[in-house]
Amino acid sequence: MIRLTKSFILSVLVFIAVLVFWFILEKEKQEAQVVFLDVGQGDSQLVLLPGDVQILVDAGPSADIAAKLGRYLPFYDKEIELAILTHPHADHLRGFISVFRNYRVKNFMFSGANYESRVYGDFMAALQAEGSRVYLAQAGDIVSFVKHSMSDKNVQNQNVQNQILHILAPVKNDFTRNFKSIHNSMVVGQLNLADKKFLLMGDAEEDLENQLIASNAIQDVDVLKVGHHGSKTSTSAGLLKAAQPEEAIIQVGNNSYGHPYPMVLDRLRESGVKIFRNDQLGDVIYR
Ligand SMILES: [Zn+2]
Repeated sequence: MIRLTKSFILSVLVFIAVLVFWFILEKEKQEAQVVFLDVGQGDSQLVLLPGDVQILVDAGPSADIAAKLGRYLPFYDKEIELAILTHPHADHLRGFISVFRNYRVKNFMFSGANYESRVYGDFMAALQAEGSRVYLAQAGDIVSFVKHSMSDKNVQNQNVQNQILHILAPVKNDFTRNFKSIHNSMVVGQLNLADKKFLLMGDAEEDLENQLIASNAIQDVDVLKVGHHGSKTSTSAGLLKAAQPEEAIIQVGNNSYGHPYPMVLDRLRESGVKIFRNDQLGDVIYR
C-alpha cells in the first residue's frame, strides 16, 4: 500500500518535471515580435521578447487595449516589463488606465512634461496606484534586455545582452518644463530587433524631426512608425532622407483630421517606401 503511494507520488513528480521542462523549452523557442496594434485612431506598439518579456509603447484611446494584449501575451503572463507613454494625448494615453487594471506594469517611462487634462489626471492617479518604477525618458537612455539561455554553457558569462531601445528624445528633461507644443515633449525611440531597426516617432512634428536630424540622432532604419498618424505636421522630406526607411507603418483609424494626409502618403511613395496602415490591415506584425 505504502509502495503504491510512493510510486504514485514519484510518477506525479516526474510528470511535473516533464511539464516544467517542456514549458522552459517552449519559452526558449519564443521569437521576438513587434506588433503595431490596430487601436483605431491612436498609437500602440507591443514588443514581445523571448522569455515572456514585453514592452508596450502607448496604449491607444480606449479600454479595448486590454483584450488586444490578451491576444498576444500568454494566458499566464499578467506582467508587462516596461510601458512607455510618448506624450499625454488621449489617443496614446487613455488605454493605460485599463492596462493597469488588467496587468502589472513593472516599469513605466514617460517624459513627465507638464500637461493638464482630465484623462492625464486620471492616468497619473492610476500610475501611482500601480506602483511601477517610474523613469523620466531622456535622449541617450538605453533599454537593454538580458537573456539567460539554457543552452549557454556558462550562463553568467554568456548572457546575450541586447540594446533593444535607444531613447532619442526628449533631449532635455525638466519635470517643471512647459513645452510650447506637447508634441515637442515626445518620447522618440529607435528599436533594434534582430536585423530590423524601427524608428518610433510617436506624434513628433517637423520641429522635433529637425532637431533630431541636426543632432545626428536619426540613423538609417528599416521601418518608420510614421509621426502623428500621417499628419501634414510630420514626416518631412528631411526625415525620410535621414532615416531611409524601406517600410512605414501608419497607425490611423476613422478620424476627422484628414489623417493620413495625401501629401505625406505621396512623399513616402516617392521615396520608395512601402506603406502599411492599421485602418486597412488591422494589426501589423513583424516577426
Ligand atoms: Zn496621436
